[in-house]
Amino acid sequence: MRKKIAAANWKMNLNLTEALQLIQSLDSHLKQLKPNQQVILGVPFPLLIPVKNLISNYKHVDVAAQNCYSKLQGAYTGEVSPSLLKGLNINYVILGHSERRDYFNESNDFIKEKVALALQQQLTPIFCCGEALEIRNANNQNDFVKNQIKESLFHLNAQQISQVIIAYEPIWAIGTGKTATSLQAQEMHHFIRSVIAEKYGVACSENISILYGGSVKANNAFELFNQPDVDGGLVGGASLIATEFNTIIENLI
Ligand code: PEP
Repeated sequence: MRKKIAAANWKMNLNLTEALQLIQSLDSHLKQLKPNQQVILGVPFPLLIPVKNLISNYKHVDVAAQNCYSKLQGAYTGEVSPSLLKGLNINYVILGHSERRDYFNESNDFIKEKVALALQQQLTPIFCCGEALEIRNANNQNDFVKNQIKESLFHLNAQQISQVIIAYEPIWAIGTGKTATSLQAQEMHHFIRSVIAEKYGVACSENISILYGGSVKANNAFELFNQPDVDGGLVGGASLIATEFNTIIENLI
């Protein structure tokens, strides 16, 4: 059975004191997660270990790095190796977020290398894909997202891709307060699953968690997460507000 996941993307927000306060305010919800539910907190690199320690008593909660590099070691000042992360007991890494594609010029090919190395190091990639508004307006979103998946994931074998969590994040919905309708989300998630099924078979596609990201809030999580192919959310802004994120967790169904 697919996991239902509420993944937080804190981006470059929260200091350690604020992180501690937030986790305290999530406590009762984190305690009550069922075995098929998971919360993953995507935190800035310096907070990975302190936050990992803070959540160590919760069974179904873990942390994610927000990036890693495509090499294991060497003269790459400022980069972080997936093997270093794994050595610190980090299990998840967000890759291909649209902010990294946009501000740091990350290409499908570069993300492909990172995905491969992350998996080789037994890190679970949370692979982000999604189209810009012009592409949606031209009704080319399916081809665009299929191409992102093809170019960054189709080098994997079935066993490897089944380790990947996919996050569909239409760029026009990220941080804009403009959410995809539940129908738009369901259509794209169903399409993504069919793309995976075509290459790897239906059984494999049915086991992959596909999260929706883009202005998920307390007041729209129920409708979005209720769609058959939506397995939870990757949540930016609302994951920083305890009351919002608690309600989002409550709606993991
Ligand atoms: C994100 O950054 O991945 C995201 C979905 O942000 P927000 O929820 O703020 O739109």
